[in-house]
Formats: sequence, C-alpha cells, structure tokens
Amino acid sequence: MSKALSENALTRLTDIVGPSGIVSGDATRRYLDDPRGKHHGQTGLVVKPEYTEQVAQIVTACGELGLGIVPFGAGSGGVAGHMSLDDRPVVTLSLERMAAIRQVDARSNVIVVEAGAILADVQRAAEAVGRKVGLRLASEESCTIGGNLATNAGGVNVLRYGSARDQCLGIEAVMPDGSVLSDIATVRKNNTGYDLRHLMSGSEGTLGIITAAALTLFPSTEKGLTALCAVPSPDAALDLLHALTAQFGTVVTAFELLSRLGLSLALKHIPDLPDPMEEKHDWYVLLQVDSAAAICELIEQWLGEAFETGLIQDAVLASSQKQADALWKLREAAYEYNRLEGAFVTSDTAVPLSGIGTFIDEVAAGIARVDPALRANFYGHVGDGNIHVNIFPPEGTASNRQDPGQQALARRLSDLINEVSVTLGGTISAEHGIGRSRIADHERFADPTKRRIQQAIKQAVDPRGVMNPGALFRD
Ligand SMILES: Cc1cc2nc3c(=O)[nH]c(=O)nc-3n(C[C@H](O)[C@H](O)[C@H](O)COP(=O)(O)OP(=O)(O)OC[C@H]3O[C@@H](n4cnc5c(N)ncnc54)[C@H](O)[C@@H]3O)c2cc1C
Repeated sequence: MSKALSENALTRLTDIVGPSGIVSGDATRRYLDDPRGKHHGQTGLVVKPEYTEQVAQIVTACGELGLGIVPFGAGSGGVAGHMSLDDRPVVTLSLERMAAIRQVDARSNVIVVEAGAILADVQRAAEAVGRKVGLRLASEESCTIGGNLATNAGGVNVLRYGSARDQCLGIEAVMPDGSVLSDIATVRKNNTGYDLRHLMSGSEGTLGIITAAALTLFPSTEKGLTALCAVPSPDAALDLLHALTAQFGTVVTAFELLSRLGLSLALKHIPDLPDPMEEKHDWYVLLQVDSAAAICELIEQWLGEAFETGLIQDAVLASSQKQADALWKLREAAYEYNRLEGAFVTSDTAVPLSGIGTFIDEVAAGIARVDPALRANFYGHVGDGNIHVNIFPPEGTASNRQDPGQQALARRLSDLINEVSVTLGGTISAEHGIGRSRIADHERFADPTKRRIQQAIKQAVDPRGVMNPGALFRD
C-alpha cells in the first residue's frame, strides 16, 4: 500500500484542482490495474487537473512535498508504467480532464490536441475534415495521445506512417521543476538544437508530463482494401510484402501476421466470429491497403495472380466494412484471447525483417525443448519486424501466475525469447516500453553506454526524481 498522504499534502493538492479533481480511497482502483491483470499498483491519491497551469502547480507542489508523480493516460500500457508497485509516496496524475482538440488545420495537415484526448476521438476529429491520423491501435477507444507519445506507441500502421514519435510535430509538457516546455511547433522542419519532442516521446513519464501535442495528419484515402491471405510461412509473408511493394510502392498500410493457433483462439474466445476460410492454414497475413479505388482494384487483381503463382495459398477479400471489421477483429482481439487462454509469457520483440523466420523457428524450437506440450502464439506487426510471442500452458492446464514454478518457467522462456531476438540484432521492447515490468530485461540487454546516457539525462532533467519514480530505472 502506498504511504497515505499527509493532511498538508491533501489540502495543498485539493486547493489546486478543487474537490472534483481528487480521487481517493476505493475509487482509485481503476487507475491501478493493468490490462493483462498481471499487476496491481499503489497510489496515495489521484489528481485530475483541467489545464496546463494546474499541472505545473501540482508538479511544483509534489516536488516540495517530496511526492513522486505517476502520469496516467488510460492505463492500457501493459508494462506497469502507469502504476507504482512499491510503497513510496506517490500521486497519480490523470490527464482525463484535459482532452480538448485545440486546433485542426486541414490545410497544414496538423492537429493540436491535449494529452488526455482519446486516440479514437482524435481520429474522428481528423476524419471530420477529410484527413486521418496515422496511429491505429487495438486500444484506440481508450488510450490517450499523451500515453501514445509517452510510450512512443506503434500499432498496425507503423509500416506506412511510422510510430507515435514520427507523427509528432511538437509537444507541450510540464517539466519536473514545474516549468512549461512550449515546443508545440506545427512546422515539419525545425532544426533548432536537441529535439525535445523526440526526447519526450518514449520517455514513459520519467522526464515530464506531456500536456498537449501537435500531430501530422494524412490524406483520408478514397478506399480501403482488407484481405486475409494464407501463406506457407512467415518468410513467405515477407515475400508477399516485398512483391506487393515492388509492384505498387508504399501503399500497404498494415501487414499483420496471424498463426493458426491465434486464429483458432479468436474463434474460441470471441463470440460471433466466423472462420474466414474453409481450409485451415498454418499462417495468415492480414493486409490493409488504403489508396485510390483504382489502385485497390489493381491490387485485388494482383492478389488473384499471386494465388495462381502460389505466393499465397488462399485469400478472403472483405466486400463490406462489416466484413473488414470481422477480419480485423481476428487480429485486434489478440490481447483479449491470449489473456483468456492463460498466456503466462508475453513478448514485445522486434527483429530485422530478414530474421523473422529464424526468430520464430528458434524460439519455437527452444520452447519445445523446455516442454513440448507448451503452446506458443506468434503474431504481430510482421511488416515492421515486431513479433509478439504469447505462451500458454499445455492444453487443459490452467495458468496460475502465483505459482512459483510457473513464474520460474516464465522467466526462463522470456529470457529465451529475448536472447534470440537480441542475437538476431533485435530488441526486447518494440513498442510497449520498459515501464516497471521490463527493467531487469532492459538492464541485461541494453547497451551500457546507452543506459548510462539515459540515466544522465534523467538526472539532469529530474534531479529530485519526482517524475514516475521506479519506471524505466530502478531508481
Ligand atoms: C488491446 C490492446 C492493444 C494494444 N495494442 C498496442 C499496439 O498495437 N501498439 C502499441 O504500441 N501499444 C499497444 N497497446 C499498449 C497501449 O495501448 C499503449 O502503450 C498506449 O500508448 C498507452 O496509452 P495510455 O493512454 O493507456 O497510457 P498509460 O497506460 O496510462 O501510460 C503509459 C505510460 O505513459 C505514461 N504517460 C501516460 N500519459 C502521459 C502523459 N500525458 N505524459 C507523460 N507520461 C504519460 C505513463 O506514466 C506510463 O508510463 C495495446 C494495449 C491494449 C490493451
């Protein structure tokens, strides 16, 4: 349990945000869960400021009171970045009341939003002016722009639009000393020294609180093509991607790998999802192209030829938005069906594209050596090398996270996955970040000089350790 706040601290923070901006007691629970149910956090109090100046006042007060601050977007992060796991005195700062769309400038292709704005709301605001936001995540109806930037979120459209950092033109943030960084530039080129918007992106709340951001908008395309293609192997999936881009250029928005196990878990756990193909295949690619109608038609024809030449073994093309949504559900519900099946190991690894086949083969072989009855679901953003591995207990065996035997097994299997990834030139964390749950892996696998510089930056920007203590670094 986090240390209870002193009366003095409570009074001071209440004076800043008013009683409606304070959450305490049992009502703080929703800020302390994680989406996989692995962790439960602690906090002394949740504060909900309404504007940037209030955030600055809270940060100043917490610095003076010796309280840590844990920024909170929607808590969908999955690596315990948004919750303190020990008993140090902290305040959770939720951006939920700072969700305004400040400016939509379609002509400049820029949108400026407050950090608590929900990604799907920002997407809708862009669509209203005939534009789109590049970020697309299965959690988009809850996750916030502040959380997306703080974690440098990836998602399914990285292939076409890059990750959150790539789409950020400017940032407003409250720094650990209470000053406001107003770097909300909306221009595309801005070479004026160290790029602080890029430093804040991916900083996981350890360098300051993002209060607003300017994001790039993209043209809203005329048509979308959604297809599920069966392919003989993950390497064949890549062959398909390269053949497609060689023919049509960078039109592919998303290119997601699914295994037969993943698809069957979707059908088992998600109600009303039909099996999209009559025959069963080992591997599938979910392909999304957003382009002009004429290009989409050409790609449809090309997929027919790819079937004739054996590049793909089967394909289902969505003929309505409803069908496209059902195909996407097979992929987007992965978080949910993996959890329901009892995944006790999850990874966020990425390897260079050329190493994807080897990564999957070596990890699968390593798991089988440990216990051939374990089941592994390999899936993810294969177009950018980001393969998630989820491991389940043998069929008919329940997962028990409290079991020390299972915990030791999970550690061993995570090490195996990370070692294969790093040996192939990959990373242990492609898009979710380090938070509190991947610190040991970060310490073990990160380049020591990189870590030393990261720690020096933290020390320089936040010498009192106010911001998200215990995240990214042990302390
Ligand atoms: C179903 C599902 C699918 C997902 N799919 C993807 C995916 O494809 N790609 C991907 O990258 N992630 C994915 N995620 C993870 C998650 O949605 C992202 O990490 C998201 O960016 C987190 O946003 P949030 O608002 O929930 O942030 P939170 O979880 O609340 O916080 C995440 C981190 O950011 C910090 N933070 C939050 N807001 C701020 C702020 N304003 N200023 C400074 N720091 C802040 C927190 O302290 C914490 O360290 C998925 C999660 C779920 C549940």
